Amino acid sequence: MTHPTTTPTPRICPNCDGFATVAITTGSRDRHGHLPTLTANCPACNGQGTVPARRVREAARA
Ligand SMILES: [Zn+2]
Repeated sequence: MTHPTTTPTPRICPNCDGFATVAITTGSRDRHGHLPTLTANCPACNGQGTVPARRVREAARA
């Protein structure tokens, strides 16, 4: 007989769908010819990609 897991497993963040960190190009190259990118973390999960199950329910209500 198997027991259901009691530990809450983190859910994929509904805001970023698991892609918590994205690179944004600034659109202009620097003087070295490189294309600088800014990294932005998902504000909902702070770059984690997952949120506790409790917070997923709160987000769904909003
Ligand atoms: Zn997220």
